[in-house]
Amino acid sequence: MLEPVPEGDTIYRLAERLRPALVDRRIVDAKIAVAEIRESHVVGSSVVAVSARGKNLLIGLSNGLTLHTHLMMHGAWHLYARGERWRMPSFRLRIALMTEEAEAVCFGAPVVRMLRTDRIDKDPKLSALGPDVLGGAFDANEAARRISQNPDRTIAEALLDQRAVAGIGNVLKSEILFLAKVHPEVAVGLLGEAELAAIFEITSSVMSRAVAPGRARRFALPGRVTRVTSRSQMGRGGELWVYERRGEPCFVCGTPIERITQGEDARSTYFCPKCQPASQETR
Ligand SMILES: [Zn+2]
Repeated sequence: MLEPVPEGDTIYRLAERLRPALVDRRIVDAKIAVAEIRESHVVGSSVVAVSARGKNLLIGLSNGLTLHTHLMMHGAWHLYARGERWRMPSFRLRIALMTEEAEAVCFGAPVVRMLRTDRIDKDPKLSALGPDVLGGAFDANEAARRISQNPDRTIAEALLDQRAVAGIGNVLKSEILFLAKVHPEVAVGLLGEAELAAIFEITSSVMSRAVAPGRARRFALPGRVTRVTSRSQMGRGGELWVYERRGEPCFVCGTPIERITQGEDARSTYFCPKCQPASQETR
């Protein structure tokens, strides 16, 4: 029986289904049946974003790499609980990503490859596609309006409220606040209109560009990065500015990155105390 060719909207829905199981989760194990992909490309990294570009599925990792799959006629992504029996024969396995709780398994896809997240726009297989196919135009004004309804909440907690802004995970939360130079513990009500607008402008850029922190780094702070920092020097944080970089020097000012936990769920937030000052006088 022929399955229908997965269309763009199918991949978009697939991305929506995989996202809650993968984003902000660390890949603790992997099964790989693609010669060019090594375990070290994926295991140990956190998933930063899951997005659709046309019929392509992109899974962005915290190490600055993105897993690109194209399902063509017969490929499929399945989501299972850890240890659950697969509903497809394992000889069709291409790649399986295991988190603590879930297994995302790709079967039979003809295109399975890793690429550098900051090169996605130059990739011949992906660059021809416009950003519109990512789906869901981001309305910054509406996001600002919703987030302002709880003025006492910290901005870091507010950004994770999926009813206010859908799609921001814990990794991007820290990155967005760093790029906006906003301290994570500032109450939403203390932020001016311009500051909220700046936060959502950055959010919009980061999210609509298939969520590529490496690229965000270049377009958001032009000229501010004075040191050339190679991937190896950047450590396990890959191309992220602050996430999981506690104690390591800020790429902009050299101040050690700090980590705090916030909200009922005690989610980690990473920030630079100098680039993101707490008091209004210095903002
Ligand atoms: Zn700094």
